[in-house]
Amino acid sequence: MAACSSGILKSSDREDSEGEINLMDKMESSSKGDFVGNVSHYIPLPDCYKGPINKGHLLFDACFEGGNLGRVDYVSHFEYDLFVRPDTCNPRFRVWFNFTVSNTKNQQRIIFHVVNFSKTKSLYREGMSPLVLSTSRPEWCRIPPKNVFYYRSPDHQRNYVMSFAFAFDNEEDTYQFAYCYPYTYTKLQQYLQKLDSLGKDYYKREILGYSVQQRNLDLITISSPENLKLGSKAKVILITGRIHPGESPSSYVCEGIMGFLMSDTREARLLRKHLVFKIIPMLNPDGVFLGNYRCSLMGFDLNRHWHDPSPWAHPTLHATKQLVMRLDKEKETDLEFYVDIHAHSTLTNGFMYGNVYDEEKRFESHAVYPKLLCQRAHDFSWGKTSFNKDAEKAGTGRRYLGDCLHEHTNCYTLEVSFFCYTDKETGDHIPYTQEGYVELGRNVVKTFIDYYQLL
Ligand SMILES: [Zn+2]
Repeated sequence: MAACSSGILKSSDREDSEGEINLMDKMESSSKGDFVGNVSHYIPLPDCYKGPINKGHLLFDACFEGGNLGRVDYVSHFEYDLFVRPDTCNPRFRVWFNFTVSNTKNQQRIIFHVVNFSKTKSLYREGMSPLVLSTSRPEWCRIPPKNVFYYRSPDHQRNYVMSFAFAFDNEEDTYQFAYCYPYTYTKLQQYLQKLDSLGKDYYKREILGYSVQQRNLDLITISSPENLKLGSKAKVILITGRIHPGESPSSYVCEGIMGFLMSDTREARLLRKHLVFKIIPMLNPDGVFLGNYRCSLMGFDLNRHWHDPSPWAHPTLHATKQLVMRLDKEKETDLEFYVDIHAHSTLTNGFMYGNVYDEEKRFESHAVYPKLLCQRAHDFSWGKTSFNKDAEKAGTGRRYLGDCLHEHTNCYTLEVSFFCYTDKETGDHIPYTQEGYVELGRNVVKTFIDYYQLL
């Protein structure tokens, strides 16, 4: 595996940066069904082919929740060019893919080329590989990195192309390939229904608003019942996830946070006793449903609209901002933390972006939480954590809220790599599993025990 990138951040390494733009911007797509623009039960064949459809004529489909594949070109019986479908109403973003392949032949070997990523810098250079599962092997696993290649392709206008080789081993199976572990809107709804069914008095679920396509904007509150009574003084920790829909690790981190806070451990009881956790696990449910990478249904990067969210164009962000402003104003509430959870497509590890303060004491206290998280979480990097006030980031939650909330509110972006973390002792790259992301979520909440010295 290639060595980890250096500690020096280029502009494309930074939080939220979309990086360099790939040249191939022209896209065609087939549009069928509700999942506009995705291929639908499509069998690419050579131009001259007039014969029957046989086993081994691969059938591609991305018309399902969170699916993304805009076009497939037949190159040869063993080779296909795949095109990521751009975000709805925003052709600039093409990263997330998620599709199925069936009608395979036993031991059929193929090479897929993903040819139109919108970014050039990628963790594929560091050894990241796509995820795969199949009907008979339903757990996601990463394709061996030795079968994955990322390079400038002379056959594709010298665009960066990610090629991977794969052998289908069971012709009855349907295979699914994805950029990262998918986490759909439906999966979140099912998880929240499970939490609802526990009937705990320290858990409350509200619908804070609805998306343009009328999906729930869920708000989960977890704290001891005494803290939830009107008029009680409370320290509030606000956490949001999935403002960028393709950043599915964010949802696993959120699950880790909610799961730990709901548990019956002594630590969880202490956290509930002293703090109120408010969690919005999916800020962009339409984008998640549609299989977008970065934008909402209407093509907005919601994390650039915090300064002026519109109730009709960005309803989920508008509702979230109203909640934040209310928490900020309420006399009995101390909004102490805002953490917005993302996933990073060019850097490894978990790390944070924070704000810059002129007053030294304030700046030092702002650095305490990420330092403590670093002590808890073996995958969290203090070295990659940075504090900035770039003008480009002015519309992000971390920057905007950092400027306008009470001085004592700490606002951070928490990033976690789509790929791996570096083992602090051995220096090895350890690829993240779903459980690894969940574990980071647990550590995010446990760190508040250290911060508030609750034990
Ligand atoms: Zn993001």
